[in-house]
Amino acid sequence: MTKYVYDFSEGSKDQKDLLGGKGANLAEMSNMGLPVPPGFTISTEACRAYLGSAGEGQPGTMPEGLEEEVTEHLEALEQAMGRKLGEPDDPLLVSVRSGAKFSMPGMMETVLNVGLNDRSVEGLAKQAGDERFAWDSYRRLLAMFGKTVLGIDGELFEGALDGLKEEVGAESDLDLDAERLRALVETYKGIIEEQCGEPFPQDPRAQLDQAVAAVFDSWNTERAVLYRRQERIPGDLGTAVNVCSMVFGNCGMDSGTGVAFTRDPASGAQGVYGDYLQNAQGEDVVAGIRNTVPLAELEKLDKKSYDELMEIMQRLEEHYRDLCDIEFTVERGKLWMLQTRVGKRTPAAAFRIAVQLADQGLITMDEALERVTGAQLAQLMFPQFDPKAERKLLAKGMNASPGAAVGKAVFDSATAVEWAERGEQVILVRRETNPDDLHGMVVAAGILTSRGGKTSHAAVVARGMGRTCVCGADDLDVDVRVGEFRTPDGTEVHEGDVISIDGTTGEVFLGDVPVIDSKVVRWFEGDEDAADDELVAAVARIMEHADAARRLGVRANADTPGDAARSRRFGAQGIGLCRTEHMFLGDRRELVERLILADSDEEQEAALSALLPLQRQDFEEILEAMDGLPVTIRLIDPPLHEFLPGFTELSMKVAVAEAAGKPSKRDVRLLAAVRRMHEENPMLGLRGVRLGVVIPGLFTMQARAILEAAAARIKAGGDPCPEIMIPLVATVQELELVKADVVEVAGAVEDEQGVKIPFKVGTMIELPRAAMTADEIAESAEFFSFGTNDLTQMTWGFSRDDVEAAFFSTYLEKGIFGVSPFETLDRQGVGALVRVAAERGRRTRPDLHLGVCGEHGGDPDSIHFFEEVGLDYVSCSPFRVPVARLEAGRAAAAAKAD
Ligand code: PEP
Ligand code: MG
Repeated sequence: MTKYVYDFSEGSKDQKDLLGGKGANLAEMSNMGLPVPPGFTISTEACRAYLGSAGEGQPGTMPEGLEEEVTEHLEALEQAMGRKLGEPDDPLLVSVRSGAKFSMPGMMETVLNVGLNDRSVEGLAKQAGDERFAWDSYRRLLAMFGKTVLGIDGELFEGALDGLKEEVGAESDLDLDAERLRALVETYKGIIEEQCGEPFPQDPRAQLDQAVAAVFDSWNTERAVLYRRQERIPGDLGTAVNVCSMVFGNCGMDSGTGVAFTRDPASGAQGVYGDYLQNAQGEDVVAGIRNTVPLAELEKLDKKSYDELMEIMQRLEEHYRDLCDIEFTVERGKLWMLQTRVGKRTPAAAFRIAVQLADQGLITMDEALERVTGAQLAQLMFPQFDPKAERKLLAKGMNASPGAAVGKAVFDSATAVEWAERGEQVILVRRETNPDDLHGMVVAAGILTSRGGKTSHAAVVARGMGRTCVCGADDLDVDVRVGEFRTPDGTEVHEGDVISIDGTTGEVFLGDVPVIDSKVVRWFEGDEDAADDELVAAVARIMEHADAARRLGVRANADTPGDAARSRRFGAQGIGLCRTEHMFLGDRRELVERLILADSDEEQEAALSALLPLQRQDFEEILEAMDGLPVTIRLIDPPLHEFLPGFTELSMKVAVAEAAGKPSKRDVRLLAAVRRMHEENPMLGLRGVRLGVVIPGLFTMQARAILEAAAARIKAGGDPCPEIMIPLVATVQELELVKADVVEVAGAVEDEQGVKIPFKVGTMIELPRAAMTADEIAESAEFFSFGTNDLTQMTWGFSRDDVEAAFFSTYLEKGIFGVSPFETLDRQGVGALVRVAAERGRRTRPDLHLGVCGEHGGDPDSIHFFEEVGLDYVSCSPFRVPVARLEAGRAAAAAKAD
């Protein structure tokens, strides 16, 4: 028969799956000999069995044998305590607390003082010699039981308490004497009977059993479900229940309750951090009923307990080798530990604490590396609002993409573009965004929406661009037609009014909140000395260790000399993807039009010749910025009609001109070309290598520009390492064809320039067919770079430009996936293709160099996968380079530890 109940002495901190976090840590503390009130834990397995037996709208049934096991453990507890649960003369009381594997603060339920009833309350009063304390405890049980177990609106109890306080002129609950609390108990019992049609259960064991069921049920409350979804906690873990003998912080001024941290969870600084509340039970601290005092005051109030607590905190930190947070109670001068766990902390504290613990010799540097994350580093790299500045909060939404942005509110993309072009900082405000808003999002300093979650279009796109974004601020009533939004308190913000949005906290402020630069970024840029600041020094130490530990190289996706230089300062070891399409925009668009409209080979040749020197210049500058490091340049990828005007816009122009009798011949020809080149599914059409096959001159012009640029760099004393990359290859034949052209051009350029140019030709793997035939493709390719954006699009059949806005929120809600596969690599599907292609490619060419340049190259979870598959490098946007270095180091350290 399954064992469902464990005494605290039976468990350990490593059994969180079975005993939940709280239960596992209570067991650990008991076994360390710390003063933990005796008790037992009902396992998560019991919870799963109970919940599994529940029908639609029907409560579950307790698994067989659980009741007997609880009886057994309860008897043992009674024996240890020398008292029986709810016994009239001298009752044992217990607390019933939830505790899941992952902490879900405030999401689930707790009932204290179980075992009190109309008779045992008198016994408690007598034993404690304190009537007030006994009635205070009973009214707390009634309110908590009423709310949690019986599902009564808590306001009814709070309202009755407030009413009584007002009636007797009491400032706080401490001013209510025993008589008044006795009256309050009667009121509460009345509320329960009225609301449930039944009186409060007087049988202590019935109270206990109902409380346990209520804790199990609280796993599935709406807020718990929502919290788990946000935090990506699996929904099927269930919670454990801890039944613990009560100790009382509310039996006089020599008693109290508090929370403490072994270090400051905000900054990481060592010291005494926490709060203490005299004559109170735990929930008073959380509820903020009375003001707490700083923990340091406890030294004056009760030096003995304080000293003992300090000693225990030090022991806990050394034992857990990490920041611990603690809940404790003092009962008449005796200290009791009610909970501990490894505490949550801010990103800054995480870095500082990791290095401090390593310096103290408590952990190794490899462990320090595992204690911080790329997401935390990313947060430290965003600019922040000056914490000292004044601000007026308008609303709070989801912290979708971190950063601090200030600008004038604009309500449509066209205005955003227009205002940005005249040099204004703008915040694009929409109810939600869609791909049509893209140009506005590109120019905006920040994006604010009133609808949609962390994976809404706005959120996904903003994160991709590194743009600050707050989404789903549903308190805001956004009216884009009028160009304004309103807050519930009636504040109106019109187009042009300045607002500030904090993508790290989700806050929206009125006016211009001053922004300060991230010190960490200034250090990466070389403008800050690591020695000057403890946080920067901690980041520097950890980065140094990550770089030493990692096996994966880190390159950048950069298409301009500026981005190349910046990513190099950020530690990039080359460029993994230089997209060339942006080099055909602006003034050069006209040359592309000429190319497309060319009627003869000569005309085409002329257009390409005009592009050549411009391209050569582009490449020369980038190769110079990355001198000595590999630069992977991808030949043009998008369908050419992307460089032509839109069909609607152009046909209007031509129609208007025709109506006026003076149509431009060029426009008419362009329109015909646009019509001719229209594709129903351009992402599956004439793009990538297919362009190279159909219009060979375009690819050879680009190859020539790259090679001539390299030759020029060599002549100038440089050390260029260009890698020419062919996109969207499906079969080796395509690659062979264009590679032959490139090799021929290279021969010609080397002859003309009189230098030997080191270069490689490789391909992107971004189609499932390419992955499956990677062994053949590797015959021709000298390197592979996984284009996981297209590979995800082509594997799932998801249009990457449409689906996130169209239906991803529904997919996420229904749990089809927990995170967008465009954000974090889908290991089973797309990942399997990457694995197969890597293996097959290397079978043909053992030294085949493998990288990844899709968005996943900068995503922490995906980086761990690329480490596992044995790729050589990841490539990501410049700003994510440090994050990728850190995560690559963490992945290597984790692999070593396994
Ligand atoms: C890719 O498909 O992953 C890729 C890097 O190319 P692009 O995003 O430019 O299609
Ligand atoms: Mg691609």
